[in-house]
Amino acid sequence: MQYSYKYIILGGGMAGANAAMEIRKYDRKGTLLIVTQETDKPYYRPPLSKEFWTEPDYPKETIYYNISDDESIDILTGTTVKQINADQQTIEIESGEIYQYEKLLYSLGGAPKWIDGLESERVLALRNLEDYRNLRKLAKPGSKVIIVGGGWVGAELAAGLKLNDMDVTLVFPNEVLNEKRLPRMLAKEFQQRFVDIGVSLINNTYANSYSVADDQVSLKLENGAVLKADVLVLGIGLKPNVELAEAAGLEVGNGVIADKYLQTSNKHIYAAGDVLNYPDVIIGRNRFEHEEQAEYSGKVAGRNMTGAEEVYNHGAPLSYTNILDISIEGVGEMSRNRDDAIIEEVAGGYIVYYLFKGKPSGILTYNVKVDMDKAREILVNPPKTLDKLTRMLKPI
Ligand SMILES: Cc1cc2nc3c(=O)[nH]c(=O)nc-3n(C[C@H](O)[C@H](O)[C@H](O)COP(=O)(O)OP(=O)(O)OC[C@H]3O[C@@H](n4cnc5c(N)ncnc54)[C@H](O)[C@@H]3O)c2cc1C
Repeated sequence: MQYSYKYIILGGGMAGANAAMEIRKYDRKGTLLIVTQETDKPYYRPPLSKEFWTEPDYPKETIYYNISDDESIDILTGTTVKQINADQQTIEIESGEIYQYEKLLYSLGGAPKWIDGLESERVLALRNLEDYRNLRKLAKPGSKVIIVGGGWVGAELAAGLKLNDMDVTLVFPNEVLNEKRLPRMLAKEFQQRFVDIGVSLINNTYANSYSVADDQVSLKLENGAVLKADVLVLGIGLKPNVELAEAAGLEVGNGVIADKYLQTSNKHIYAAGDVLNYPDVIIGRNRFEHEEQAEYSGKVAGRNMTGAEEVYNHGAPLSYTNILDISIEGVGEMSRNRDDAIIEEVAGGYIVYYLFKGKPSGILTYNVKVDMDKAREILVNPPKTLDKLTRMLKPI
C-alpha cells in the first residue's frame, strides 16, 4: 500500500512536534504525517528527569504537545522508519508500507551510548516516557540504583531518586562532578549538594561492562571495582541517529549536515533537533542536544518546508538544568579553557565567562537569572577588553 503526504516528519520528538505545529500555522491544508517509534504521541521531555521525581503532584499529562487532537495532523505511533528513498521521495516503514512526501523533516534525535552487557529491563537510559515508566516500576524507596555519567540528566536523576529515598550511586569519569562544564570552584560547590543529600559519588573512573543475575546488576568499573544494584541507569551520552540519512545518500558527519536554512544535501529534506548539524551564526558549525535547539530549529525547518526561506539565526542555543536548589543556564561553548574563565559574583550567584583565544566563547549563569539574549549579544559583539566583560549582564 502506498500513501501520499505533502509533509512527512520523521521522529515525534520535540523538534518534530514543533515543526508540525509550525507547518500547520503556515499551511492549513497540506497533508501532514508524523512517524514515531514511540507508543506515546509527541511530548516535552525535560520533566522526565526533574519534576516527575521531585514534584509528586506534577500534572504529568501536561507534557503532551497540543497536536494530538488536531485531526489535520496524522501521527503514526509505535512505527519505525526503515528507509528513505530520496530519489523517489518516499519512506518505508517496518511493515513495508511506503509513504510519498513532497517535503521531509529528518528529526530522529539520537540513541543512548551503551556499554558491554546483555539487554535487561534492569539496565536503561532515561530517554523517553517508556524508560521513565520502566524505571518507576523497578526503582522504589530503598532500591539501590547506580547512575553512570555525570551530565545534566544523570545528575538530575541522581538527585530525584535520592529524594525518593533510594540508595543512589553516581559514577563519573572526572575528579569533580560536572567539572567538564563548570569551573572547578563551582563544580565543587555543585558536587557538595549531592554529598549533602547522601548520593554516593564514585569519581575518576569509567564503567566498563555489566551483567545481570538474580535481579541484581553487577557493574564493572575501569578501576577494577564491581558495584551491585537493583537498577543501572546509563547516562553516558547520545549518538545522533544518522544511519537512515546516510543510507539515503545525505551528507552526514557529527549529525545530519544542513545549511543555514536547515536544508540537507537533498533539497526536499530538512533536519532539526539533536541530529541537526548546522552553521550556527554565533559559534559556527555545530550540533546541540538542547530543548531550545529542538524547538527553534523545528520551527524554522517547519516554516521553510512550507516555502519560507528563513535563515536559522537563533545562535548559541540555551542549555539549562534545575537540580536541587541549583539552576544553571548557558549559551555558547562552555568547556574551552574553562580554568581561565572569568567568574563574576552577582546577586548571590555567579556568571561565568568562558574564553577562547582571548574572547568570550560561552556564558553560564549559576543561581542567578540574566537575559540570555543579552549574553548572546556579548558573544557576538564582545567588549574590546576583557575587564569590561563583567557587569555587562544585570540580574533580573
Ligand atoms: C530526560 C531528559 C531530560 C532533558 N532535560 C533537558 C533540559 O533540562 N534542558 C535542555 O535543554 N534539554 C534537555 N533534554 C534534551 C532535549 O529533550 C532534547 O534536546 C530534545 O528532546 C531533542 O529533540 P529531538 O526531536 O531532536 O529528539 P527526540 O526528542 O529525542 O525525538 C526523536 C524521536 O525520533 C524517534 N525515532 C528515532 N528513530 C526512529 C525511527 N527509525 N523511526 C521512527 N522514529 C524514530 C524517537 O523514538 C524519538 O521519538 C532532556 C532530554 C531528556 C531525555
